[in-house]
Amino acid sequence: MDWTLQAPATKKYRAYGRKDIDQIAGLQRLPQEQRDILKAVSYVLPFRVNNYVIDELIDWSRLPDDPMYQLTFPQPGMLSEEHLNRVLPLVQNGADDRTIMEVVRPIQMELNPHPAGQKQWNVPKDAGNSMQGLQHKYRETVLFFPAQGQTCHAYCTYCFRWAQFVGIDDLKFATTEALKLANYLRKNREVSDVLVTGGDPMIMKTKVLRRYLEPLLQPEMDSVQSIRIGTKAPAYWPFRFTLDRDADDLMRLFEEIVAAGKHLAIMAHFSHPRELETPAAQDALRRIRSTGAVIRCQAPLIRHVNDDPHVWSTMWRTQVSQGCIPYYMFVERDTGPKKYFEVPLARAFQIFTEAYNSVSGLARTVRGPSMSALPGKVLVDGVIDLPQGRYFVLKFIQGRSSDWVNKPFLAEYDPKATWLNDLKPAFGEQEFFFEPELATLKPRGSSYETAVMAEGSAAPA
Ligand SMILES: *Cc1c(COP(=O)(O)O)cnc(C)c1O
Ligand code: SF4
Repeated sequence: MDWTLQAPATKKYRAYGRKDIDQIAGLQRLPQEQRDILKAVSYVLPFRVNNYVIDELIDWSRLPDDPMYQLTFPQPGMLSEEHLNRVLPLVQNGADDRTIMEVVRPIQMELNPHPAGQKQWNVPKDAGNSMQGLQHKYRETVLFFPAQGQTCHAYCTYCFRWAQFVGIDDLKFATTEALKLANYLRKNREVSDVLVTGGDPMIMKTKVLRRYLEPLLQPEMDSVQSIRIGTKAPAYWPFRFTLDRDADDLMRLFEEIVAAGKHLAIMAHFSHPRELETPAAQDALRRIRSTGAVIRCQAPLIRHVNDDPHVWSTMWRTQVSQGCIPYYMFVERDTGPKKYFEVPLARAFQIFTEAYNSVSGLARTVRGPSMSALPGKVLVDGVIDLPQGRYFVLKFIQGRSSDWVNKPFLAEYDPKATWLNDLKPAFGEQEFFFEPELATLKPRGSSYETAVMAEGSAAPA
């Protein structure tokens, strides 16, 4: 494909964290007290932006409501008043980091960065050794978390995922991990899809990513048909695919994957249409597609960021016009400052339906709103009025047991419910149809049955 870049010829990545807050010019619009609150919250919750997010995504004239600002900058409402009041006076009195962190750590624990059971339940075992970087929940798909890919070009404030590991930029380590992944796939030939996720795997240098992916291209790995990479880099740092020093090498790697006969899917996380509208993002998408990779788009529904049908319909239309395929709308999980971000299921369904109604069939490849819950991915597929009352129509689009998939089931309508475990089965039944079988699915050792009882803390990248 013939293409030329619309964006400037160089862009050097610069990250801004808590310590750089006073250097961000746009924040000078905020009163001092608001800046202090921002600092206080950023001791507790992840904060990282970069020069592209600052220069091209945030509309600084619309603080604090601007959706990209809400997505990336900690907000006062993300902490309870009680938590904020423990940290804010220390920040205002210029206490040192150590003193502040002593107060902050217990607060972080209370916010539950690692939902119970995640580590124990998600990790398959191979000849008794647990495979730390793997999750195998649904028969066809293995999630792979390269250790070097556990951070992101900027952080979404609702997400704790980035905190799972600290990055190790070590090629030798990548090689041994890649061998383990390849071995696992050789023994589990029912796996057709490898989903590389993080953090954001595109934070890795191309040569590290290559160590992981090249072994999957060998002829004996013919059971692996698709390689997916979950990433927010097209939104947060599109230069990863165009101007970064190893961007050309990355495009070559993508081409090699396609040439080896694999379906390569870039699972791009786009939260708001603005992320798709910059010349830099459009260059990145065009360039990725020119390698033969397919771009599928997904994001959680987040209050203050994209809880508006118009935002989603515009986003899906823009994705289609950029040659991308809308894939999932997620409901946000129970993590961190969930209260600040959460959208009730009934409202999520309404937003999805209004947006879905107003786009053409090419954008209706999207599915949602979907909860990645303990038993599987559960879609809120409708609201129905029966003589007995009003109900949610739910169905599995992925299940720990594949028998559960695509069978509608009902729950009592509850306008306040925000997650599957808030819902009650319809007609006074004691449990949902899948619960007896779910209770029998215990970790068993070496197959996908080891899979997840509780999940990671956010949508993949
Ligand atoms: C969403 C998800 C997948 C991929 O599911 P698809 O429906 O194939 O996109 C795989 N594993 C886990 C744990 C997931 O949450
Ligand atoms: S949602 Fe994705 S891009 Fe955002 S912080 Fe979490 S892992 Fe990183």
